[in-house]
Amino acid sequence: MPEGILAQFAAALAAGAIRVIDLSQPLDGTTPIIQLPPEFGTTWPFQLQEISRYDSRGPAWYWNNFACGEHTGTHFDAPIHWVTGKDYRANATDTIPAEKFLAPACVIDASREAAADPDFLLTRQHVEAWERAHGRIDRGAWVLMRTDWSKRGDPSAFLNAREDGAHVPGPHPDLLRFLVQERDIVGWGSEAVGTDAGQAFRFDPPFPCHSTMHGNNRFGLASLANLDQLPPKGAVLITPPLKIVNGSGSPCRVLALVAA
Ligand code: MN
Repeated sequence: MPEGILAQFAAALAAGAIRVIDLSQPLDGTTPIIQLPPEFGTTWPFQLQEISRYDSRGPAWYWNNFACGEHTGTHFDAPIHWVTGKDYRANATDTIPAEKFLAPACVIDASREAAADPDFLLTRQHVEAWERAHGRIDRGAWVLMRTDWSKRGDPSAFLNAREDGAHVPGPHPDLLRFLVQERDIVGWGSEAVGTDAGQAFRFDPPFPCHSTMHGNNRFGLASLANLDQLPPKGAVLITPPLKIVNGSGSPCRVLALVAA
């Protein structure tokens, strides 16, 4: 380990040689949340309730209560979120080792394909083409699928729900097995409301990103933004969820460090 490596890092930050890019969506009552069929339980939308604002309830201070589901807005999925990951040790938001919350990112640009087809699925062949251009996906990296879906400002266009379910791009089941078994990634990140494609309830296995990632003790990031500002390779992500005891996930201020 080079001596003073953290001093060099701090100096690079101070000099603007490292940029910090916010990959998070704002949280308010309009933040889109996943819609499930009525037979299933539902998640709360984000809610803010003012406690005081420099008034009789608190003359010098402003603060709020908030409520939301764990999987609201830009958020982290822990392995315990899925039945396939329920038996791992240290599989919840409070027990995952903290060093797992810092990892490099590989960004696959599928924005053109997603614009042409909202049900576009990223395949192993796409990723192998990306590797020919940018090098092998790093062990322990996040793989982030850029779709520009976060630029859909209208929540109904973002969720893109129809009578036959949501139409949102995501990963192909074979790709997920490849990324875990042959590339040993730390997790999968998406710009959509969840990590799986909108039609993934029809796939084999259903919801393959959740099933495969969490079934191998890997993580997910959903509702990411600003992936168009990241290089294909070289960014480092900071992704700590709230330390909810036995939490299945948490809203997350996801940050990326990028060489300027
Ligand atoms: Mn989730």
